[in-house]
Amino acid sequence: MTSVKRLFVLLCGFEIIPKTVSTHNIGARFIISVPISAYLLDTDAGWVLFDTGLDEANLRDPERLNALYISTGWDPPPVVKPHHEMERQLNEIGIGFDDISTVILSHLHADHTGHIKHMKNARFIVSQRELDFVRSGKAPSYFFGSDYDLPGLEWQVVEGDVELMDGLTIIATPGHSPGHQSLVVTLPNTGQVVLAADVGDLMINFTDEILPGGLTDEAEALASIRRINREVAERGAMLMLTHDPELIQQIKLAPDYYD
Ligand SMILES: [Zn+2]
Repeated sequence: MTSVKRLFVLLCGFEIIPKTVSTHNIGARFIISVPISAYLLDTDAGWVLFDTGLDEANLRDPERLNALYISTGWDPPPVVKPHHEMERQLNEIGIGFDDISTVILSHLHADHTGHIKHMKNARFIVSQRELDFVRSGKAPSYFFGSDYDLPGLEWQVVEGDVELMDGLTIIATPGHSPGHQSLVVTLPNTGQVVLAADVGDLMINFTDEILPGGLTDEAEALASIRRINREVAERGAMLMLTHDPELIQQIKLAPDYYD
């Protein structure tokens, strides 16, 4: 039994980063380019989005580009070409931002929160720990309050593992950020898919249990890598990563889909 009919992978741009951002203490001299993914689910309860990419408007306005990226050391900034724009990809599927009823946020880093402001009819599901962290005032510069600290947003705060509907379960995977969470999705024909988000950027984070470069707790980050590996193995699931530059070239991208 599953309420999820289709899964679309949205490729929302690229980040240009030292390899150590993805692999803890490994590869400081190398610069890699990683995709930014988001996932759209067509469900019996409406359109559900897992993460929202980053807002290209912040890259195109010179003042905001400098304030949010260049002056904080996020340089070079990410690349979002017109075919990466989320709204355009939604339109190709036949919907728009207003059709999204639920947004699940893996965490609140800027490459996941960009289009929250555009979804007027959605509720936003975030973990208690992630929300507590950004409200503590200790969030670093790659959390953009201007993306999510907005009046009128309908937040739904969750703790731990939560089954949202048949075939759609949030699993708590902290470590990359304090309240990071991943998804397990069941599709009618494809079977189960684990959307790990940023537990590890690259497949090697999972095959070799290499910690992510960006982390808030080493023990939690390692436990979350092992949790994802266990979920994939036990379920015989397909594993999708938000930021793996090889994997993104091997999977189907929107408007194509998995059913
Ligand atoms: Zn990310």
